[in-house]
Amino acid sequence: MTNLYLDTLQTKKEMDKCLQCPSKPCMHACPAHVSPKDFIATAKNNKWREAAQLINEQNPMGEICGLICPDTFCMKACVRSKIDAPIQIPALQALIMHKARLENINLQTNGIKPNGKKIAVIGSGPAGCAATAKLLKNGFSVTVFEKDNVVGGALNLIPQARLPREIVTYEWQRLAQNPLLELKLNCPVTDYPALLQNGYAGVVVAIGEQKPRSLNIDGEEFATLYTDYLSEPQQYMTDQPIAVIGGGAVAVDCAVTAKNQGAAHVEMFVRRGVDNMRITSAERQSLHENAIEITAMTRPLKIEKQNNDLILWTTKTRFNSEGKLEDVPNTATMRTGFKHIVLALGSTRKEDINEQPHIIYAGDIVLGGSTAVQAIADGKKAAQKLMACLVE
Ligand SMILES: Cc1cc2nc3c(=O)[nH]c(=O)nc-3n(C[C@H](O)[C@H](O)[C@H](O)COP(=O)(O)OP(=O)(O)OC[C@H]3O[C@@H](n4cnc5c(N)ncnc54)[C@H](O)[C@@H]3O)c2cc1C
Repeated sequence: MTNLYLDTLQTKKEMDKCLQCPSKPCMHACPAHVSPKDFIATAKNNKWREAAQLINEQNPMGEICGLICPDTFCMKACVRSKIDAPIQIPALQALIMHKARLENINLQTNGIKPNGKKIAVIGSGPAGCAATAKLLKNGFSVTVFEKDNVVGGALNLIPQARLPREIVTYEWQRLAQNPLLELKLNCPVTDYPALLQNGYAGVVVAIGEQKPRSLNIDGEEFATLYTDYLSEPQQYMTDQPIAVIGGGAVAVDCAVTAKNQGAAHVEMFVRRGVDNMRITSAERQSLHENAIEITAMTRPLKIEKQNNDLILWTTKTRFNSEGKLEDVPNTATMRTGFKHIVLALGSTRKEDINEQPHIIYAGDIVLGGSTAVQAIADGKKAAQKLMACLVE
């Protein structure tokens, strides 16, 4: 596994690059409103605990975001990029929070008086976590209902090489030190208004996108959903070829995981062109480094199973005069010999949003497939909105 954290020399080099811009463009570009200018200045003065506190005040999943945030927020805004290269801000944040975790530094806000009101948070992904942290800081008692037997939501699908699971658990454990928090695992909730009748003053619904997208083609039942594949990749370990359908970040994680697990050949089938793939430069690089083959401008037509092999039928695609994708006639092709075909098209919401007074939705269920830091920002916003309703 590559080292996830900066070493001492890299840390110093990155921190020394900070120009301490008074207008804090990095903070304004962070959806969670973390201020890199301030945490870097604090850490540079050897005040690691205080730096961690600054991050944690705005983002209860600081180490996670440090490890997985794309370079499209704070780094994109970093003025240093006009001189040489942007500061590796997320990596610095990850390191500061990593130090705090290793030293088990208490980052709780002390002396908060319980206000006697109880809130239910449904879902323990980033949005639920951020809403919980904000409500606890304001003296609310919070019960988190999580349908799965682990906390973290979609974060648990991110390959461990990028995000070790223990960090996800730890961020929740830190919050759970607060006696006002009750965490209920294996506890799905669907009737949100009923909670209001059962002693809860408000509900934050942060259930993410729970329905993997499908292709609606014949033989789809022979394919493996990305959620199943990434939950337990070792179950699908093979040295035979694997096909991944999809061209986004989730598909990249599936393809790289397959390669890391020893698949001889991993091929992504993408409807659009390689240049149109909605992935970051780091994801592009990882496809290149792992020798993942990309078959672009291609749409799957059907999947067949023959003995132990899967067969993928595809057609070529093109953009028509209106800029819409269409099939190119007479280009059906049969590809044989796949051990697994992974459907990695992302997910969509399983239920409609039905916001009511005191029932606020947050995170990916509202935003569509976003990023952890955007879900965190939205969870904070939902908590704020709920608190405003409760004082009215
Ligand atoms: C493979 C993959 C890779 C990703 N890579 C990145 C990345 O590199 N960087 C990045 O920033 N983001 C990444 N993301 C996106 C990020 O994980 C999501 O944007 C974020 O997790 C969304 O947070 P959320 O809280 O809205 O929803 P989720 O994380 O989906 O959490 C929802 C939670 O609600 C629970 N739940 C659902 N229904 C119920 C119910 N009825 N009752 C109780 N609980 C319920 C679920 O079990 C889950 O725990 C990735 C996502 C995936 C799938």
